Amino acid sequence: MSATPPTGRPTGSDATPGTSSSGHPGESMHRFDAATEDLALAVLDRARQRLQLDPVPLDAPRAYDDLATAVGQTVTAAGLGGKQALDLFCDVLAEACLSTDHPRYLSFIPCAATEASTLFDLIVGASSVYGGSWMEGSGAVYAENQALRWIADLAGLPASAGGVFVPGGTTGNLSALMAARNEVRRREGTRRPLKVAAAATSHSSVSGACDVLDLDFVSVPLEPSDRGRLTGAALRRAFGDDRSDLAAVVATAGSTNLGVVDDLTSVADFCRAEGDQPRTWLHVDGAYGGAGLAAPSVRHLFDGIEHADSFIVDPHKWLFAPFDSCALLYREPALARAAHTQYASYLDVLTDRGEWDPADYAIGLTRRARGLPFWFSLAAHGTAAYTAAVERTLQVARAATAMVRDRPHLELVAEPELSVVAFYRRGWDTPDYSAWSQRLLDEQFAFVVPSSHEGRTCLRLAVVNPRTSEDDIAAILDTLD
Ligand SMILES: *Cc1c(COP(=O)(O)O)cnc(C)c1O
Repeated sequence: MSATPPTGRPTGSDATPGTSSSGHPGESMHRFDAATEDLALAVLDRARQRLQLDPVPLDAPRAYDDLATAVGQTVTAAGLGGKQALDLFCDVLAEACLSTDHPRYLSFIPCAATEASTLFDLIVGASSVYGGSWMEGSGAVYAENQALRWIADLAGLPASAGGVFVPGGTTGNLSALMAARNEVRRREGTRRPLKVAAAATSHSSVSGACDVLDLDFVSVPLEPSDRGRLTGAALRRAFGDDRSDLAAVVATAGSTNLGVVDDLTSVADFCRAEGDQPRTWLHVDGAYGGAGLAAPSVRHLFDGIEHADSFIVDPHKWLFAPFDSCALLYREPALARAAHTQYASYLDVLTDRGEWDPADYAIGLTRRARGLPFWFSLAAHGTAAYTAAVERTLQVARAATAMVRDRPHLELVAEPELSVVAFYRRGWDTPDYSAWSQRLLDEQFAFVVPSSHEGRTCLRLAVVNPRTSEDDIAAILDTLD
């Protein structure tokens, strides 16, 4: 390689300016050197091919030694060259990664991004946008905020609500609980041990956030009358009239394992200010289930969400956006700013402007404008297409529920509310489930891993991909006969 940095810009007489298509006055373009031009075409071609595969390959993980033999050392002093590194990724490394958008990838929470959002992700990368401040990224932040507004409106949050796209629900929950803790500290003018209450079915990242923030996580005991969800009654049983130690209550809007939505109305009622007790911060974790807000057939399950002080939903789960993207919203964004704004002399030029700086609303300063792929797809397709797509997955989940019910050797774990269907295979022990799951992956037929409920192994289908059909589900259930 020459002594010049690898910018892809040709040197000397090759550097003829081209014409810009952007129409900016005075803007011109440089031409890529031949190798970069080849690479550009190859990258775009590979991306296009991947998106056009039908079906996409399921693929499978490979053992480390196996990969080491196949791939060897990739980071070298001389460099492999772009084309070779690209081929190595596309032909070997990518095939050692499961395709989360395969229609029979139904484990965990799959991610099936729209073509529009994935294509636009290439533009986000090419645009060198800093998404942390309005000063640097106003156009991107404007667009992201419109996508956030759509979600805020679905939840019935006030016009003042706002927030930021963070990498995932884990960061979203942590950032929201940090704002909640800060608000109690500000009100009391002191720091003391505080608690966060949630059901045992809340996501592991909630208790993890409590560890980070040194808050005591209280798993609120449930009784049969709570029907497996956090309720105001359960909170009253646990805390009586004294909730002065509570920094926040976390309600889950769609538990990850079973898709259960907590009783948001009675939980919000518990959190209301009463007598001399100030209101308790209500955080609603809808990382998976929050997308159900867009679906009229399940919208009623979310009643009460309009009282949330903070709320998250991951577009990379059930809103058809690529990794990584979590929409974090606050009822009163000023309370989040008070917790998250970073002060430093080199940042004063930003802080002093008083504009909408996304970095003020979560942990993290530098940020990719990661809400843009979601925004673009939403803007391109319109919100009605989102409603239709979420409803389609619910329809398939309901069909799956009926199929499980019709098969005597299968037994539902619980009546599904959203798009997760969990069930037992009668007569099977854990090793049977594991062997079955591995066989389906080995045959490149489906990716369905076992889960468990109350200590008993079960199977779990998470339907968030509109390309997953009733036939896919039937084919999988047939292998359980
Ligand atoms: C997935 C999930 C999370 C964590 O989100 P990540 O994006 O994986 O960090 C939090 N809460 C719930 C309910 C989830 O389903």
